[in-house]
This record gives sequence, C-alpha cells and structure tokens, in this order.
Amino acid sequence: MTTGRLFVISAPSGTGKTTMLKRVMADTSGLVFSISHTTRAPRPGERHGVDYYFVPRDEFSAMIQREAFLEYAEVHGNLYGTSTDAIGVQLDNGLDVLLDIDVQGAALLRRKGRPAATHIFIAPPNLDELEKRLRGRGTENEETIRLRLKNAATEIRAAAAYEYLIINDSIDEAINLLTAIILAERARGHRLPSGKPISGRVIT
Ligand code: 5GP
Repeated sequence: MTTGRLFVISAPSGTGKTTMLKRVMADTSGLVFSISHTTRAPRPGERHGVDYYFVPRDEFSAMIQREAFLEYAEVHGNLYGTSTDAIGVQLDNGLDVLLDIDVQGAALLRRKGRPAATHIFIAPPNLDELEKRLRGRGTENEETIRLRLKNAATEIRAAAAYEYLIINDSIDEAINLLTAIILAERARGHRLPSGKPISGRVIT
C-alpha cells in the first residue's frame, strides 16, 4: 500500500475555503481532514474534535515543549498547530490528508521538505469581495474582521510560493478545480505502489 499524500491548503479568512474543503471531502473517497489544535475560542456551531481541538494556551505551550507539532503558528492573535500524531496514522493507512494551514505554517513545511506535500492557495477574486464575505458570515466582531482583512493582503502576496492557485469566484468551479488537482496529483506516476508499473511489466 502506498502512503497517503498531504495537501496543504491556505487561503485568507473569508475566501470560502471551509465550504470548499467540506464539499470536496464529501465527494472524494480516501481524503480526510487534519484537525488542528487552536487556542481560539469556538465559534457558534463549532465542535471540539470536529472543527478543531480547542485548547487553553498553557496546554498548547506544553505541546510545543514536547515537540508534538509538525508545524504551528500564531495567526490573527491565536495559536494554531498540526499535531504530528493527527496525520501520521492517516498517512500510514494510505489516506490523503488535507491540511488547512496559514501561509507561515505552509512555508515552514516547504522548508522542512518532509513529509512531501502539494501546496494549494485559494484566493478571493478581490479584497472588496473578501470583506463582503467576511462581514456576511457574521461570525467575527469588527476588530477581528479588520485584523483578518489587514492580514489578507500579506497572505495573498505569499500565493506565488504555492504550486497551485485557485481563485474562488464561482464556488462550484473552485470546488471542481480543487478536486481535479487532488485527483491529478493522485495519478502522478511516482505514486504507483512501490513505483512499479501497474501491470508489473514495462511496456516498450
Ligand atoms: P480560523 O480561525 O478562521 O479557523 O483560522 C484562521 C487561520 O488559521 C486560517 O488561515 C487557517 O488556515 C489557519 N490554521 C488553521 N489550523 C492551522 C494549523 O494547524 N496550523 C497553521 N499554521 N495554521 C492553521
């Protein structure tokens, strides 16, 4: 059995990433979501162990101390991290894992180089549209909205370092494109079991 592949997905807050990831996971077999740890408070409707592991700062710090994170970063004033345990088992079971992480965490993984990952950036069509969507979802206060919009400009500048860019203008098209990228990555030749041709023979 081949081990699974990591898909690192970054997007400014309000881009529609969570909706996209939920739909792609519902329609694509063998694909799971890495549940991050965060010190942020849950939003209405968010559940511990489903959306995030919501932990106090001292617990997060203890995890940093014992090197439990593959990567972590401070984003919009809160800490977020991917625990190595959370993804290791899934990858070993041949499942592909979606990592929803910010541009700092993604850059850290690129520097590390392992585990191998495909990096995908999702961008809004423009910043005005992003502000409209962020306000429209009504989950953040004014101060948080302003901070997230300010950070969005910096995040978008980091998009060039990613292998794929998806502009979420139409949600259906963006979802189709994300699914296509995942399927195409799965079909890459080097991902065949043990690198052998499917038939066991080399066709000349
Ligand atoms: P939100 O608070 O809107 O759920 O997420 C805020 C930001 O934190 C998003 O950019 C999201 O990608 C990022 N994030 C979520 N989990 C992780 C993680 O485990 N590591 C890092 N580096 N960023 C994360």
